Amino acid sequence: ADIKDLIFIEDIGHGSCGTVGKCSYKGVIMAVKIMPRTKNSYEMSRILMDLDVICLSFDCPYIVRCFGYFITPTDVRVCMECMATCLDRLLIHIRQPIPERIIGKLSISIIKALHYLKTKHQIMHRDVKPSNILLDWSGVIKLCDFGIAGRLIESRAHSKQAGCPLYMGPERLDPSNTNSYDIRSDVWSLGLTLVELATGQYPYAGSEFEMLAKIVHGEPPRLRPGNFTPEFCDLVEKCLQREPNLRPNYNELLQHPFILFHEQQETDVEEWFADVMGV
Ligand code: ADP
Ligand code: MG
Repeated sequence: ADIKDLIFIEDIGHGSCGTVGKCSYKGVIMAVKIMPRTKNSYEMSRILMDLDVICLSFDCPYIVRCFGYFITPTDVRVCMECMATCLDRLLIHIRQPIPERIIGKLSISIIKALHYLKTKHQIMHRDVKPSNILLDWSGVIKLCDFGIAGRLIESRAHSKQAGCPLYMGPERLDPSNTNSYDIRSDVWSLGLTLVELATGQYPYAGSEFEMLAKIVHGEPPRLRPGNFTPEFCDLVEKCLQREPNLRPNYNELLQHPFILFHEQQETDVEEWFADVMGV
């Protein structure tokens, strides 16, 4: 592969760790994420390891396909399949909540993607949010951006160094527990994402400091029962529990009545998407 064959077409967007542009590579349209290289060689090696996992994940239909990456003296360029939009931009564009039947379908995709990452590659995502859930024109929903994902084992070693173990809670000191403690923070992120999609709004308000304080000390967000089915409210309530060990794992989530129900449904996501986009 030659980086000279990568032709820039237009900007897609900017994020916390770089920019994404639409490019053509030998006639194939791709989304290319450009991230500045870090001088920290430890971090750089982590990024490269994550990239290898992303590129290996093409056997999961719910994860954005990665074709490969280029490393230049100044940056890393990851070539991915180009999707139509991400869910945060979609929310802004349609200016209304996403209907529950569509959320049912996308919950299935996202939970299966997270489950796949955990069972196949022993990693957690760490950055589940609407902008990392993408949709293509045929209505396929995929997860992307293992931006700060690290291998579970590594992250465990890492979390032991962060903070003094004498002051850590028992669940963090018990090595057999660290696993579930870690991975279940993705389940919280999933729950919060679902609330945002279902209501059309990020559930906390105020300054960043105030929002963080509410997340740490306040009651977790809930869906209003009148507006949604009891099954959907229950799924969100189970994901958004402050105690990580009480949150369901992926097998439990896949068996949840909300998920089982929507797996039976023939929801036409493609038609809905074309409709709201005015195509
Ligand atoms: P963020 O932190 O918002 O996720 P990113 O740098 O990951 O920032 O992405 C910037 C923008 O590019 C986002 O709007 C995202 O949805 C979009 N994007 C990322 N990857 C793709 C892709 N494969 N296809 C289409 N759009 C993408
Ligand atoms: Mg992203």
